Amino acid sequence: MILDEVEVVRVDRLSPSFVRVELGGACLEHFGVDGPLYDQRIKLVFPGVPGGPPPSFEGVDDSWWATWLARPEEERGHMRTYTVRDVIGEGAETRLVVDIVVHADAHGEPGPGCSWAAAATLGDRLVVIAPRRGHVYGGIEFVPGEARELLLAGDETAVPAICAVLEQLPVDAVGAAFLEVPKAGDVLTVQHPEGVRVVWLAREGDAHGARLRPAVLEHLGVGVTTVEEPGEVDPDVWETPSYSSSGEAIHDAATSVGDHLDGLYAWIAGESGVVTGLRRALVKDLGVDRKQVAFMGYWRKGVAMRS
Ligand SMILES: Cc1cc2nc3c(=O)[nH]c(=O)nc-3n(C[C@H](O)[C@H](O)[C@H](O)COP(=O)(O)OP(=O)(O)OC[C@H]3O[C@@H](n4cnc5c(N)ncnc54)[C@H](O)[C@@H]3O)c2cc1C
Repeated sequence: MILDEVEVVRVDRLSPSFVRVELGGACLEHFGVDGPLYDQRIKLVFPGVPGGPPPSFEGVDDSWWATWLARPEEERGHMRTYTVRDVIGEGAETRLVVDIVVHADAHGEPGPGCSWAAAATLGDRLVVIAPRRGHVYGGIEFVPGEARELLLAGDETAVPAICAVLEQLPVDAVGAAFLEVPKAGDVLTVQHPEGVRVVWLAREGDAHGARLRPAVLEHLGVGVTTVEEPGEVDPDVWETPSYSSSGEAIHDAATSVGDHLDGLYAWIAGESGVVTGLRRALVKDLGVDRKQVAFMGYWRKGVAMRS
């Protein structure tokens, strides 16, 4: 993998809630995966002190994770997970494009990732952990297999992943994408196959999921427009065909599912409570086979995603 310093080479405020940064650095010459990047995740490590240097990983070995965690927080900085929205250039000029959501929590406090993005300027340095071409890395969850129809759904944190997937789908792909964003001004332009309907949903002050849940359920032909708020929510909910954060059996036999959902592949990411509610509706209520779905909690209301 790549575990190295990069620098901000371009910053654009795309909309009220999105800051786009382009990251460049000699190490990115080696960035890459076999096949499409789709929702490829990466880690960014921001400086522990705003404006200060990022933590040094020079000379690290396989035990870098434990060594990094053992360092005091102001020294080790803040690690957060993001998506590769795009890759531009090549060789030593390769740049990673990352779209970062500018948000505030219930008390109006931003997290370190958000604060960094809101103040990002050319030349800022940070550390990236990303796939190195020719080496196994993981971090791509969009695996539709032979699905005949796609359902992509998520909130603003999943917008970079959904847009990246849409732009890499084959031209004959069929399905729908639902993207819930804070404001109408956050609707972005995205290329997508003609057969995939793209629906932007602006919350405009409503709760997370208030627009996404009914839109997804209506799309699936479910006769209810609300889903109960789940009680206990695992902030790290991650249920994909190859991994279960709740310890569910991975190779469950297919459960019964209505004909109209046969052949569907659903990829759903965003706030963990919203994702948990949608998972319950799809897997428990509609009986969609867990091999046809990937549900990922990208963040949890009230919980800092400390790594
Ligand atoms: C695989 C994966 C891919 C991701 N890709 C992206 C991406 O491309 N772009 C992106 O912006 N995010 C992405 N995220 C989500 C991002 O990692 C989280 O939102 C993370 O919490 C941001 O860190 P922070 O330092 O800003 O806030 P934290 O320190 O983690 O949290 C501080 C407070 O802010 C709240 N909070 C966190 N995020 C939000 C939000 N979006 N809206 C409102 N409140 C919030 C928390 O609940 C907490 O109370 C991804 C997450 C995963 C797991």
